[in-house]
Amino acid sequence: MKYQIALIPGDGIGPEIIDSACQVLNKVGATYGHEFIYTTVKAGGCAIDEFGVPLPDGALEQCLASDSVLLGAVGGPKWDTLPGHLRPERALLNIRKGMGLFANLRPARLMPMLKEASPLRRETAEKGFDLLIVRELTGGIYFGKSGRYQSEDGETAFDTETYSVKEIRRIGKVAFETARTRRGHVTSIDKANVMESSRLWRETMHELAKEYPDVQMKDMLVDNAAMQLVQNPSQFDVVVTSNIFGDILSDEASQLTGSIGLLPSASLGETKCGMYEPIHGSAPDIAGQDMANPIATVLSAAMMLRLSFGLTKEADAVEKAVDEVLNQGLRTRDIAWGGPSVSGSAMTKALVDRL
Ligand code: NAD
Repeated sequence: MKYQIALIPGDGIGPEIIDSACQVLNKVGATYGHEFIYTTVKAGGCAIDEFGVPLPDGALEQCLASDSVLLGAVGGPKWDTLPGHLRPERALLNIRKGMGLFANLRPARLMPMLKEASPLRRETAEKGFDLLIVRELTGGIYFGKSGRYQSEDGETAFDTETYSVKEIRRIGKVAFETARTRRGHVTSIDKANVMESSRLWRETMHELAKEYPDVQMKDMLVDNAAMQLVQNPSQFDVVVTSNIFGDILSDEASQLTGSIGLLPSASLGETKCGMYEPIHGSAPDIAGQDMANPIATVLSAAMMLRLSFGLTKEADAVEKAVDEVLNQGLRTRDIAWGGPSVSGSAMTKALVDRL
């Protein structure tokens, strides 16, 4: 099979980690008889430098014309002082919106060989965890009405959380469908004791749950969820929540695994064409030094194989290679904690060799 992939290397360590992911994909292609055809799309800071805008004309169209998009990271101090509409991150928001990517999937798994790195209590870390946060990405308070006005207290600002049944159902479906491929459990997180939008969220999730009798669902208030994640993370399988709650909880969950350099993510819409990216940023402090851990991007590519291309055994093989290389004791500097470490390119070579 042939697959068209739009590559957005972006800034900082982006080009290095995208190169690593492509080496891994090429090995998968050679081993399993697939051809991955890449188109490089400039977006982010590098596009600002070359074209004066973070997402040049034609870039979104190139993404839409592909079977999937693989992104490194965008941004850096060089572009930090630009106005909002010209910042590198604007490219990502416009791509997500333009591609209709309403679901953000972030797996967080405590890898047994990296337990020591987790800030969890030892006995909690011993149990391990493997959860997936499904975050609504295009609605809620980040997209609701906001503004400022003069009240009797002086300058006052507001943001509005808005959700429709349609929006809640479509993100809920992603969670229930995904739970079917995992351990069959969904935790729906809201603040239904206080917020009306959360009450609609809860009602809609309960209605949807009737269509998935094989999946167990329970509700949890977001404040409790933040606590439970630290106290007993192994209770979670799939977690589904709103844009703002997902933003916060997914960062919390990622930190419990010990390293930002290991965690992948997927953003999906109504079609199979998604955008896959590591959860970390462009790490300008280590860019160009061959120190970046490529694993988060390699695992993002594995998610792409599984979710956009339906290549399950190929995705399994990439994930297994990561586990094996880590089990062998190979560490990039971010996960070596002062011990011996290898470069990003040496880690990439080890992964390719394993495959
Ligand atoms: P960051 O994730 O880039 O870096 C945080 C720390 O983690 C740094 O010390 C960095 O060296 C380290 N790190 C990150 N990824 C690593 C990897 N793969 N291997 C080894 N170490 C790694 O976050 P930041 O420093 O807050 O942000 C830097 C830039 O990235 C900013 O401009 C920010 O806006 C941007 N950013 C982009 C995205 C994205 O493109 N999706 C996401 C977050 C931040």
